[in-house]
Amino acid sequence: MSASPALDAILARIASAAQSAGRNPSDIVLTAVSKQQPWDAVAPVLAAGQKVFGENRVQEALARWEGRREGLELRLIGPLQTNKVREAVALFDVIETLDRDRLAVALAETAARSGRSPRLYVQVNTGEEPQKAGIAPLQADAFLHRVRSELGLPVEGLMCIPPAGEPPGPHFAFLAKIAARNGLARLSMGMSGDFETAITFGATSIRVGSALFGDRSPPAA
Ligand SMILES: *Cc1c(COP(=O)(O)O)cnc(C)c1O
Repeated sequence: MSASPALDAILARIASAAQSAGRNPSDIVLTAVSKQQPWDAVAPVLAAGQKVFGENRVQEALARWEGRREGLELRLIGPLQTNKVREAVALFDVIETLDRDRLAVALAETAARSGRSPRLYVQVNTGEEPQKAGIAPLQADAFLHRVRSELGLPVEGLMCIPPAGEPPGPHFAFLAKIAARNGLARLSMGMSGDFETAITFGATSIRVGSALFGDRSPPAA
């Protein structure tokens, strides 16, 4: 038995969803979302061989992963402030939340200065929710052109978080369409509650937290 029955269970669900969709399970990356989890919850999943982890805050990620990130891939899946760009570029292999021009400019400048350029996903606010991060769908094509062609940044794909309480399928389909017309092959979509649906709609990476690690502890006040 592996060190993490919970990880085995998620991998089995990914394989089964991929099979139903006629896809190869190895084309789907599991990002284990370790934010706000105690190390006791993360350690068995790491010991079982999981290599890709997602975090939503730069400082918290540094505290958890600095000194143990060898051989791992760390992905930032939470909003990035421009004053944290330097630290984020130094720590993360992938930043999934590029969503505005100022941030793109800061990333380009930092990459040029540091020689380190994380792979990037542009976050799209598919539900056009005012409180949610992400570029508006109507601005996505122009923003992608700006980021890739004018700033020369390596955009790998698109990311979305569908509105809570709505069927996620149409949002996943919408994101896939925007990616296709922009020649992007990667889609980060699907979380604990909807990753099987996301796989049906073409997710190439899914972000799973609570279904893998259990409920999160609330952030320290
Ligand atoms: C927290 C978080 C997740 C994981 O959520 P679960 O429902 O616990 O799987 C996925 N994506 C983003 C952007 C998150 O902030």
